Amino acid sequence: MNTNQNYDTIVIGGGPAGSTAATLIAQQGYRVLLLERDAEPTFKIGESLIPATYWTFKRLGMLEKLRNSNFPQKFSVQFFTRTGKATNPFYFFETNPHESAITWQVLRSEFDQMLLDNATEKGVEVRRGVSVRKVLFEGDKAIGIAAQNGKNNNFETIHGTVIVDSTGQRSLIGRQLDLNTVEPNLKKASLFTHYEGGHRDEGLDEGATLILHTEEKDSWFWSIPLPYNRTSIGVVGGLDYLLQNRREPDGKLNTQKIFNEELEKCQPLKQRLEGAKQLFSMQTTKDFSYRASRIAGENWVLIGDAFGFLDPVYSTGLFLALKSGEMAADAIVDAFQKDDFSEQKLGSFGQTFIEGMEAFRKLVYAFYTKEFSFARFLSEYPQHLGGIVDILSGDVYRRDVTHIFPDMSKTCYFPPEVPLEHSSH
Ligand SMILES: Cc1cc2nc3c(=O)[nH]c(=O)nc-3n(C[C@H](O)[C@H](O)[C@H](O)COP(=O)(O)OP(=O)(O)OC[C@H]3O[C@@H](n4cnc5c(N)ncnc54)[C@H](O)[C@@H]3O)c2cc1C
Repeated sequence: MNTNQNYDTIVIGGGPAGSTAATLIAQQGYRVLLLERDAEPTFKIGESLIPATYWTFKRLGMLEKLRNSNFPQKFSVQFFTRTGKATNPFYFFETNPHESAITWQVLRSEFDQMLLDNATEKGVEVRRGVSVRKVLFEGDKAIGIAAQNGKNNNFETIHGTVIVDSTGQRSLIGRQLDLNTVEPNLKKASLFTHYEGGHRDEGLDEGATLILHTEEKDSWFWSIPLPYNRTSIGVVGGLDYLLQNRREPDGKLNTQKIFNEELEKCQPLKQRLEGAKQLFSMQTTKDFSYRASRIAGENWVLIGDAFGFLDPVYSTGLFLALKSGEMAADAIVDAFQKDDFSEQKLGSFGQTFIEGMEAFRKLVYAFYTKEFSFARFLSEYPQHLGGIVDILSGDVYRRDVTHIFPDMSKTCYFPPEVPLEHSSH
């Protein structure tokens, strides 16, 4: 057991949220340790960026690296109705004639590693293959972590002034303090894989994300073009519909069969995948829409999926991971400058952050309202096109997008906002 290490900030988890926070804190001259469980870059889901990530990439010094990468450029997202009709693509440049309207589709193993390499370049001490088992507290105050090294299985205790939880859905502190609640109306599951080959549109639309409803709108598919002629394909549906009620007579789940059955109900996608080769067996995830009741405490902060995740439909996860990483980093640097690591100080970004999340959440609820369609809504309220494109672009912190919701609420139910809680101390 090694206990002699002390850092200004320990970041747990080397996904996009963790790399972002770690880099921006280290850039201000603080001593930052980032611990990542996986010894090597691995496959991860969450491959489509939205334009508003541009501003965080700019601060991170990542734009040039992304421009020089082989990641396909994404200019738009396009929806297909349950009858197979394609809506006009939502081009991000329609409301934003700036290079930030162009974003990327990323292979996560490579993208996450690029962010980690960039963190190392900016002074972060990055250690891979170290799994944090728990965060250590003295009363309510986080004081360090206990971790296990995957190579030799040795345990070590490391102390830090601020502990950032960016463990994604593993949600280390959230589970330790029992903070998480699954979004009750968004109990969903997803099956996904990669294909090689298949049909892509040309020109501006080649890198577009496609979101396609199945015939009865019980599920929907994403199609995300990736490098190496790969396409990420996944289906999302209610947990009961997609998994619980689809067990074989022996009680087992045949996820490949379920995926094929859903694809059968989505002819435009099936046609695009003609001749394409599935690259690996079906992956499954469920109950991914949840949120923690708190975003910070004494000497600790939650960012990215460790705080919460909405639903994959608008590809907001990476943006929120980067944005919360950025906002938390600013709050942490400010905390060091004022020598105040209270919940109030470290969580000062929380209210603004959840207000942006709320805009996405409402649009997610609209998407799952069977009577709602973007085409119908926009033919009735063409003045809201800009608001919708702004949300799809992720411009929820730079522009007021809330004006579209009163008209949308005539067709869609929006559950009440869930405020942040604070420690009772
Ligand atoms: C089905 C589905 C589809 C999605 N599609 C999209 C999409 O198209 N676009 C999009 O933007 N988002 C998408 N997302 C969401 C996106 O994947 C996440 O929001 C994003 O990865 C969050 O980043 P993060 O850094 O918070 O967490 P993660 O990327 O999950 O990173 C967490 C890291 O922490 C590490 N870790 C975990 N526990 C420990 C530990 N104990 N010790 C040390 N390290 C640890 C993990 O190994 C991992 O590297 C999708 C999500 C789902 C479920």
